[in-house]
Amino acid sequence: MNKKTVRDVDVKGKTVLLRVDFNVPFEKGTTRISDDGRIRAGLPTIDYLRQQGAKVIVCSHLGRPRGKPVEELRMRPVAERLGELLGTPVAYVRECVGPEVVRHARQLEPGQVLVLENPRFYPEEEQNAPSFAKELASLAQVYVNDAFAAAHRAHASTEGVAHYLPAVAGLLMEKEVDVLGRVLEKPKRPLVAVLGGAKVSDKIAVLDHLLELVDAMLVGGGMAATFLVAQGRSVGSSLVEPERVALTAELARRARERGVELLLPRDVVVAERLEPGTRHCTVPVDGAIEDGWAIADIGPQTADQFAARIAQAGTVVWNGPLGVFEVPPFDQGTLAIARAMATCKGTTVVGGGSTAEAVESMGMADKMTHVSTGGGASLEFLEGKVLPGVAALLDK
Ligand code: ADP
Ligand code: MG
Repeated sequence: MNKKTVRDVDVKGKTVLLRVDFNVPFEKGTTRISDDGRIRAGLPTIDYLRQQGAKVIVCSHLGRPRGKPVEELRMRPVAERLGELLGTPVAYVRECVGPEVVRHARQLEPGQVLVLENPRFYPEEEQNAPSFAKELASLAQVYVNDAFAAAHRAHASTEGVAHYLPAVAGLLMEKEVDVLGRVLEKPKRPLVAVLGGAKVSDKIAVLDHLLELVDAMLVGGGMAATFLVAQGRSVGSSLVEPERVALTAELARRARERGVELLLPRDVVVAERLEPGTRHCTVPVDGAIEDGWAIADIGPQTADQFAARIAQAGTVVWNGPLGVFEVPPFDQGTLAIARAMATCKGTTVVGGGSTAEAVESMGMADKMTHVSTGGGASLEFLEGKVLPGVAALLDK
């Protein structure tokens, strides 16, 4: 990574403002954390800062309070869980800026941790107001951004504040940018992209950018239907985006021109509804799919073909489930891809919120080289976009 990291600055005895993404899910209707994975992912940087003798002020958004305090989106439960995971008490203050926060910050001793309130309680956060960014900055002497998952947003706590303090990347941020950056910049070849998800329109920029870089592109999920229509196939009642058919035909033409192997499903699982317990069967795509039936997953032949391609890859990057994985048995295609990646000897990288969720729920996350913690941010990264939260950090 060409940005300075927490290892490039002296934080001993200094107060550090650490932006993390601890936007954890709660059990429905409660403030009980149902998955603390995001907090755990932030521990290495916090441990490092504490060991270095820094005073650590942690800042994270939680949900979408839209510029005003929302009781259920206070950071207290997150601060408590962080304290449990660190094995040390963690202070929490019900504001982000102001005299009360300054008082708490001044009381910190080296190694101690203070969690700020949810910055999205302030409209200035999402507006990236310089006054708010400056007030946040005034709490500390160094800014560390470890919130890769929020780095695609130019908010006061993710971008603005970096203009008022020496700003460096945390260890998670460094890892995300390094691993995803290597996929785009100097991948071990062949580089294979696996793309799925519901719609072509969500993934146009990813398809477009990766097409210039990859050796093979394997397409499944709901968006395969639009590609199949562009090839003149009938896809029954599958979700098709008629206004994207021409674009997918153009992508296929560019793939041919560039010598990129573009693989579409050759068989699919079709269902009467995308719901549990519905009637379903596997059909080849060259026989017309009947009206009333929609593609719910790639078929077993396609899964085998995709898996064989993945097995030979030097690098695989995967975004988008291959089927409606939330509704078994339409999770089988996604599971087959996860298994193929797990046994692939090359570098395997998973990006995208739903894809990471699928891989985790299947218990395959630790079999991958890297599962990105950044849903939308990882997508924008794969689109080749510059993430404002990364761009604002000091260059090496
Ligand atoms: P990510 O968040 O990883 O970028 P997406 O949000 O684009 O992924 O795609 C995830 C969604 O795509 C899932 O909710 C899944 O049910 C849906 N999906 C996958 N295949 C199909 C299909 N054949 N028909 C409809 N939806 C699908
Ligand atoms: Mg998604």
